[in-house]
Amino acid sequence: MLLLVDLDGVVYRGREPVPGVAAVLADRVARGDEVVYVTNNSMHYRADYVTRLTGMGAPVVADRIVSSARATALYLAEHEPPIRRVLVVGGRGLRRELEDVGLVVVDARETAEQLAEREDEAARTGGLPVDPFELAGRPDAVVVGLDPGLTYRTLAFAADAIRAGARFVATNRDPVYPSERGLRPGAGAIVAALEATTGVTPVSIGKPAPFLLEEAARAVGRRAADAVMIGDGLLTDLAAAHAVGARSVLMLTGVTTRAQLEELPASQRPDAVAADAAELALVLDQLGGS
Ligand SMILES: [Mg+2]
Repeated sequence: MLLLVDLDGVVYRGREPVPGVAAVLADRVARGDEVVYVTNNSMHYRADYVTRLTGMGAPVVADRIVSSARATALYLAEHEPPIRRVLVVGGRGLRRELEDVGLVVVDARETAEQLAEREDEAARTGGLPVDPFELAGRPDAVVVGLDPGLTYRTLAFAADAIRAGARFVATNRDPVYPSERGLRPGAGAIVAALEATTGVTPVSIGKPAPFLLEEAARAVGRRAADAVMIGDGLLTDLAAAHAVGARSVLMLTGVTTRAQLEELPASQRPDAVAADAAELALVLDQLGGS
């Protein structure tokens, strides 16, 4: 089987591993399954996950970690008409993923600062106003992920590029990002701000859209419809599995309670539910027919 495995709430919760899950996945790989990790998190480079997952005993190589940043890069690399230059609102991990597939990356925050300096100078000297789109080198797309250093100028600059005709691409639309200190605005909150000010709706790559799971399956030469998605989120993991026609296992080790599961209409239910690693091992045996 091809197992597409969500990370936070399934393999770990914040800093803590979910007991036994890494071992279950290692056992599945030993018996011939393939595991690809899929996460909406857009901030990290895929190699950053390897040490952490290896330390937990999970089977992993870098190219089997498909974050929304990596999936966005893979999606753009195949895009028709071709996209070569991207203006990026997001962190270093997102920029690295985009560079890895050969895109020319322009950092929105840095360029917005340059614009502000040039505008100050023009005001002082009576020079001509600066065109933000030209200053960014006429990007083909604006790519938006979670940017903890977001500034108002960055938003204004990215909005200008979208209005000038750059495609608007969201890594994901998660409204909140759970941090150690509580809920923080997620990439989706930044995307919503840009959508509100431009009136343009982006294509979004992460779950619940189908693209992340499609790119993850493609990374191992498979079809997402043939996969089993293992996740803890109803509106993200289960919805994405449904969108690509994959089977799904809902883990009750993360954000979803059994009461929430029971409120789901029959058409949105997962194929199986697991409260812990032992139940996961059991349901995977059933789904795998062994
Ligand atoms: Mg999760």
